[in-house]
Amino acid sequence: MAKAKQPPVSLAGNPLKFLINYINNASPTGFETSGQKLWLEYIKPFVDTTFTDPYGTAVGVIKPSHKFKVVIEAHADEISWFINYISPEGLIYLKRNGGVDHQIAPSQRVLIHGRKGPVKAVFGWPAIHTRLSSTDNKEPLPKVDNLFLDCGARNKAEVEALGIHIGAVATYEAGFEELAYNYYIGRAFDNRIGGFMIAEVARLLKANNKKLPFGLYVVNAVQEEIGLRGAEMIARRIKPDVAIITDVTHDSTTPMINKIIEGDTSCGKGPALTYGPAVHNKLLDFVQKIAENKSIPLQLKTVSRSTGTDTDAFAYSNDGCPSVLISIPLRYMHTTVEMLHKDDIENTIKLMYETLLNMDSKINLSYF
Ligand SMILES: [Zn+2]
Repeated sequence: MAKAKQPPVSLAGNPLKFLINYINNASPTGFETSGQKLWLEYIKPFVDTTFTDPYGTAVGVIKPSHKFKVVIEAHADEISWFINYISPEGLIYLKRNGGVDHQIAPSQRVLIHGRKGPVKAVFGWPAIHTRLSSTDNKEPLPKVDNLFLDCGARNKAEVEALGIHIGAVATYEAGFEELAYNYYIGRAFDNRIGGFMIAEVARLLKANNKKLPFGLYVVNAVQEEIGLRGAEMIARRIKPDVAIITDVTHDSTTPMINKIIEGDTSCGKGPALTYGPAVHNKLLDFVQKIAENKSIPLQLKTVSRSTGTDTDAFAYSNDGCPSVLISIPLRYMHTTVEMLHKDDIENTIKLMYETLLNMDSKINLSYF
């Protein structure tokens, strides 16, 4: 028997162009609109209709008239810094917006998204020479209250003249790059790679002229990084019957990560399915079987209590929604060099696509 033709998952041409644009654009939690506009523009040709909710979650829908509703979901927001205090000397102190990492901040270049558009600034840090001259010989460690941005202004008025205000957000400047051996690096692959992958699923359905026996809601939710808030809102609005969530997970094979605690997941070995109470076991089994049948490599993980992803928000929404989490392994999460393997992107897209092609409204998800 001939091998079944694989769908044309493609990390070239327009999809790759979109991915690069989408990653390089800033989409801080609470301020995701510009990224959502890019995403909506890309997905529009592949869906029947789109809508957004009051806080900016964006949804593309295929066959909205169907009663049975399936969601594929990712989150659109990225971690960032809030401008919290401007000193008389024109230095800018911060608060976190999401789990942004203080340890990697010194010497990073940032964009402050002010009223007059983006302003370049840097995380200044004392030189190694001057650090070591302290009386107790102890070097300062970066903490939220000693990190500051320097935009070139030398007093508060000069800062404000650039359109920078309390409550403006700052994002790292680092963008998309390709490394050897099929690795991509970028800021905020967590989780804009998810937004890319769900859009690609919609693109493949259209390109291969596939008709699904249910309504498909392609959801790019805001405000995940501060507590799954966008997903909570949109789950109530859509009231889905099934939700397939995608997010990143840790590659636990890099140094200083304990596999005994984090489990064993690695870039290049395929998407990971997570066991946890919020994950619906029968839906997980269903997805696992699809992976086996289609020879898609798969890794397994487990969490205690919650997944810490939008899966929790969908699972516990409304009267309960069978939900499953398909994660893509990522190195160096929440740094500016988040790293992904191309094969994992393709295999995660394939797994979601094949899962949808094999699903219908009669899927038996009863535990009894
Ligand atoms: Zn994150």
